[in-house]
Amino acid sequence: MVTAVSSTEDIRVRAENALARCGVELAAVKGDALTARTPVTGHDLFGLRADTPAGIDRAVEAAHTAFLDWRTTPAPVRGALVKRLGELLTEHKEYVADLVTVEAGKIRSEALGEVQEMIDICDFAVGLSRQLYGRTMPSERPGHRLMETWHPLGVVGVISAFNFPVAVWAWNAAVALVCGDTVVWKPSELTPLTALACSALLDRAIAETGAPAHLNQVVLGGAEAGTQLVDSPLVPLVSATGSTRMGREVGPRVAARFGRTVLELGGNNAAVVAPSADLDLTVNAAVFAAAGTAGQRCTTLRRLIVHADVVDTVVERLAAAYRRLPVGDPFQESTLVGPLVNEAALARMRESLDRAVQEGGTVVVGGDRQLQDAAPDAAYVRPALVTMPAQSAVVREETFAPVLYVLTYRDLDEAIRLHNDVPQGLSSGIFTADQGEAERFLAADGADCGIVNVNIGTSGAEIGGAFGGEKETGGGRESGSDAWRAYMRRATNTVNYSGRVALAQGVDFSR
Ligand code: NAD
Repeated sequence: MVTAVSSTEDIRVRAENALARCGVELAAVKGDALTARTPVTGHDLFGLRADTPAGIDRAVEAAHTAFLDWRTTPAPVRGALVKRLGELLTEHKEYVADLVTVEAGKIRSEALGEVQEMIDICDFAVGLSRQLYGRTMPSERPGHRLMETWHPLGVVGVISAFNFPVAVWAWNAAVALVCGDTVVWKPSELTPLTALACSALLDRAIAETGAPAHLNQVVLGGAEAGTQLVDSPLVPLVSATGSTRMGREVGPRVAARFGRTVLELGGNNAAVVAPSADLDLTVNAAVFAAAGTAGQRCTTLRRLIVHADVVDTVVERLAAAYRRLPVGDPFQESTLVGPLVNEAALARMRESLDRAVQEGGTVVVGGDRQLQDAAPDAAYVRPALVTMPAQSAVVREETFAPVLYVLTYRDLDEAIRLHNDVPQGLSSGIFTADQGEAERFLAADGADCGIVNVNIGTSGAEIGGAFGGEKETGGGRESGSDAWRAYMRRATNTVNYSGRVALAQGVDFSR
């Protein structure tokens, strides 16, 4: 049982030390426009400056000027910068992880995991810098060559959410930089310190490798700072991660100026538990997916659709696991569930639980506030397990907190129908030992998400695959596979070496 919480003063010292180690000059970033805060105690750490609208314009212009140089730097040379960034992240892993815990409240293992994800995407991007392949297609005309070339796009505006304060930037920045783009990053106003630290490490890599100085700019501020990137004609691609509400505002504004977006928005992820499932594996996987990161991942498991034959056993075993979960100070090694980001998140969780009960549900365990004496201003809560008689309105919404709704099904068609009958489409899974059922879930008429797993929970994706989701999740893809194409522009080239004019489709224009 975790009962004590680190003091705000200890956390402040830890944050200042981590920032200094990463090369951030504190005196230069302190101010009174923004507040660095920790959900571990719920207290403020210190004030920070924010960027003015004129400052954001200057940052975009500087990134654009750097782009004009960077776009003609050979891609493998661009890869050398990202390689150095990966090395610096490796050397400073524990300090960046400290800041992730300070600002986002992640437990140590998950904070280190988030930094590892940044290192992994740097590795991936370095390899990619020699593999930005275009195709050569057979031309229908004799003496002609038909091919495509991929060129850098420009400044990429990265808007990120609080819950993956640094990995999302790395997914975008590492790939964008090898693609020849430059980056202006507007981090969440809840996590400015991690952004300052990562940016300082990249600035050091830039200086050491001789890359253009203003390749990466961080602009601090709230939604209005993000809006400035959204509206800037010098930003051809806006990669925005956050709520569907945010995506609804960002998407149409960028489209109105014919810019491009990569939208990574809310999820409402489900897993189906078939009667043949290995229940030990299922319960272990479900507890991490639903309660890990205190339910604050876009891929958090929010709905478990369980076959009627095993639902009682699954609920009983989950409830036992939920009662044992150590909730508390994320800096303590024994903790598995840290705090919610703020009081508003806890209030939204409570409201959802009330609505679930009104809609016929039963809260089996959880939802009660924890550590009220040790940390009265922080939002610690026991993850909640709720059985529902049907997929009612509250179940179809994303509540960004640890609430797992359990629904019951009798045949797989019904399970898939329930699974897909929500507005979001990010991550999904099926637990089964039946290959036929697994294949059906993966098929065209199976799960409708961007990520579809078998015998794995919905959260914890690897960087090698493309990451993103369908429907109200926004449709964007980031990270691995061929997600890099969104960061480049494609030119189709036809070269005529025949010495005569030959028109496509057999058109004859000769007189
Ligand atoms: P949020 O939408 O409140 O904020 C995200 C970012 O968008 C912040 O930097 C914020 O300042 C900015 N922003 C907000 N309104 C804006 C606007 N109108 N124009 C420009 N920028 C704007 O989200 P949050 O609370 O930080 O994060 C939680 C949400 O993010 C959840 O819904 C979660 O599912 C989602 N998320 C999705 C993914 C994914 O990859 N699909 C990853 C992480 C988080």
